[in-house]
Amino acid sequence: MNDTIAAISSAGGPIGLIRVSGERAIEAVSAVFEAKNGAPLTDAPAQKLVYGVLRDQKGAVIDCCYAVAMHMPHTYTGEPMAELQCHGSTAVLRLALEALFQQGVRQAEAGEFTRRAFLNGKMDLSGAEAVHDLITARTAEAAQNAAAQVMGAVGSPVHEMREELIGMIAHFHAVVDFPDEEIDPLLFDEAAALLHRVTSRLYRMAESYERGRILREGVPCVILGRPNAGKSTLLNALLGRERAIVTPIPGTTRDLIEENVKVGQLLLRVTDTAGLRDTNDPIEQAGIDRAMAEANASSLILAVFDGSTPLGEEDMLVLARTAGHRAVAILNKSDLPHACDDAKLTPYFEHIISLSAKTGEGFEELLSLIPRLVGLGDGALDGALITNARQAAALARAAERCEAALYAAQSGMTPDAVVMDAEGAVAALGEITGETVKEAVVSRIFSDFCVGK
Ligand code: GDP
Repeated sequence: MNDTIAAISSAGGPIGLIRVSGERAIEAVSAVFEAKNGAPLTDAPAQKLVYGVLRDQKGAVIDCCYAVAMHMPHTYTGEPMAELQCHGSTAVLRLALEALFQQGVRQAEAGEFTRRAFLNGKMDLSGAEAVHDLITARTAEAAQNAAAQVMGAVGSPVHEMREELIGMIAHFHAVVDFPDEEIDPLLFDEAAALLHRVTSRLYRMAESYERGRILREGVPCVILGRPNAGKSTLLNALLGRERAIVTPIPGTTRDLIEENVKVGQLLLRVTDTAGLRDTNDPIEQAGIDRAMAEANASSLILAVFDGSTPLGEEDMLVLARTAGHRAVAILNKSDLPHACDDAKLTPYFEHIISLSAKTGEGFEELLSLIPRLVGLGDGALDGALITNARQAAALARAAERCEAALYAAQSGMTPDAVVMDAEGAVAALGEITGETVKEAVVSRIFSDFCVGK
């Protein structure tokens, strides 16, 4: 059995949670916690909050709080656990932890609770990774997808396919072990059907990473345009509040302004930039250089043009920047009389949207276009989107090995050719569930977690 660990598991709210896990978890908390009803926590009913007083070694009161004892195996880590719900000040929580350390408990490392949950078989590795996604989710949709994965949306199908492959391999082994016997041709046919189905499913899962990554990380997007085209007004309209300074004076936005905007299910990481134009002002020029660099690094450019004036030389600078990028032309100021020769834009943009950042007219069209354009239209968030690069790579590897095994089965190769590739696929799938993963990889995964989870 592991030693007993403790950590502050909450983040700065009025209530602070201390988690304790390990063989002595309940005894350690019981030693520092005096229940109001006089009964020691070790005798308290499981999973039931008990009110009482927390004391340090000398008997001084640290806090009046709740404690709960949780008995194995029905705990997060699969070990005996106890929790303290204290008042949330750092001082109280530090003292509470110190009191526990006096009882021989040690500070938990990053991700150690979840690591123990994984090692004790409470969740598979894909579920454990999803716990991290759930903690760091930036949108409700990303959280929803992660929660489904904590509950096995990736682990279950992967486990199922792995079992199917293992069953198939076992049949082949029987044949390999008795080489003199006639091979039933059905064996190859059935294997081919299974491998075909599994290969397709694995490729589909691996490919969902493209959308999954967008869901988790959002999309970097830059607003470009000449000074006064209405870039800052557009950013404010996207945000639904005044963030960037809007003035009729050209060259106001000099540095980059970065904000996160939710568009449908999508998190757009928008950067407003200095207007592009020729300038002698070195500070403005530095801003323009940064705008250019930002445009190159972004996945989407919103190129803003003033629809109430003819296109000028500065607009051509903007046009040039969008070459080779996914971009939308925005003909702004649609509330003013139209004076822009926008036919000039048509050869350069697949999407031209006329809108008024000031009045909001035409905005809906932009909002519905953006998620479709970056490949994250509305879809069910049932955990089916792979959001993790490691899992996506393992899925792709498994799919390739399954495909190779399928080829071997269909082209009448020897049974061991089928077995070798199928075993490769089984190993790759095991990296996702954690059954065949190396210790170093597990350590790296959990070191990304925060302390207390
Ligand atoms: P930027 O330099 O591109 O960031 O442009 P701003 O957002 O600062 O806007 C420049 C000027 O254009 C300001 O006076 C805005 O109020 C005005 N403006 C921006 N968008 C619109 C719009 O859709 N309609 C009208 N009528 N004026 C706008």
